[in-house]
Amino acid sequence: MTDHGGAGGAGPVRYAVPYPTVGATIGERELAAVREVLQADIPLSGGAYREMFEEKFREFIGTRHAISVTSGTVALELAIHLLDLQPGDEVIATPQTYQATIQPLLNYDIKVRFADIEAHSPNISVSEVEKLLTKNTRAVILVHYGGLPVDMRPLMQLSENHGFAVIEDAAHALGSMYCGRRPGSIGHIGCFSFHSSKNITTLGEGGMITLNRDDWAERLRRIRGNEADMDLLGCEQTFGVSRDPPPHALYPGRAYTHICSAFRRAGTNATLSEPASAMGLVQLERLPELAARRRQIAARISDELSAISGVRLPDQSGDMVHAYHLFTFFVDAEQYDRDELIRCLADQGVETYLRYFPLHLLPEWRARGHCLGECPVAERSWFFEHVNLPCHPGMSDDQVEALTAALSAALLKVRRR
Ligand SMILES: *Cc1c(COP(=O)(O)O)cnc(C)c1O
Repeated sequence: MTDHGGAGGAGPVRYAVPYPTVGATIGERELAAVREVLQADIPLSGGAYREMFEEKFREFIGTRHAISVTSGTVALELAIHLLDLQPGDEVIATPQTYQATIQPLLNYDIKVRFADIEAHSPNISVSEVEKLLTKNTRAVILVHYGGLPVDMRPLMQLSENHGFAVIEDAAHALGSMYCGRRPGSIGHIGCFSFHSSKNITTLGEGGMITLNRDDWAERLRRIRGNEADMDLLGCEQTFGVSRDPPPHALYPGRAYTHICSAFRRAGTNATLSEPASAMGLVQLERLPELAARRRQIAARISDELSAISGVRLPDQSGDMVHAYHLFTFFVDAEQYDRDELIRCLADQGVETYLRYFPLHLLPEWRARGHCLGECPVAERSWFFEHVNLPCHPGMSDDQVEALTAALSAALLKVRRR
């Protein structure tokens, strides 16, 4: 907890406009749904609610499959697992995201190349991706930062030409659109988070993987349910005349109908519980309302900022719908000291968190040879320009007005003359 002083007493500072700890609003419908499951005398895991939630989510996103898991982090781990990365393979990733997007890559003996962000948005630059492609590139991992869609069309064109997979971290982008399609349905695999802070939540933790490939979906369903990841072939296919049967075939009373033909890796348990799924169903239904409130608040803040010189909003084209999981703007570092602006906002009761420290500069990535200067745009943006403001459906109109008033006042106050 950061203490900005001035509150008096020992407790944490109370902000007039706090940063959200719950990104959705939770009402009677969610409570009723969870109560119903808990009182129904049914198993609390592995039942019909999970199936219903997955089906509704699949329909909403527009993919053949939606497979629920226990968090966005696990969704990303399993998505990366599906790539079967081998030593010498390369993956291109954005440096401007939460660490969970690429952390699983640390477990592989592969080369990660960070593609810098665009000059006017926190999203990965597709022309930077193109420069980093090699014959070993197996995948590109991106995030639709804050809910602002990445320019997917040229990226998918590159993917088709060069044969790499695209993983969309869509943790922020539930409610976004790109050219009439939902993020999470445009690349090869989409990963969503229902963490407390996200656009909808499933009791505080949860995640979803969306994809079209049937064989990958089948593997995912097995490995999230504690089965090892392997190709299973029927005995008759495997016990050819030239091969001795394995020892278990000597026990005819037991139903060994499959043996493994190729073991990849261990599975895990990532089962989303029934109460969580029931809550997710209600939250997904309420998403249009929750997203509309985010956009309404974002429009009000954008309007306020449009009158002020030396600030700019991320570029977005007309065929994008922004979900505003995060509200981001950039200051001109010549005109404003960004850190002073943040302190000034805090003094006026507005809590901000900067998201995210450039990943290539975290110790674990430096230990793999990454360094300052690798992504100059992301670095300059993070250290001097980038600001995130509270923007979530739990904010009252009064809080939105308090925020915009504090913002204008703070920008005026810290502006260099
Ligand atoms: C929240 C988040 C995750 C991780 O999701 P969890 O459900 O918290 O594990 C991954 N990527 C991004 C961009 C996120 O914001």
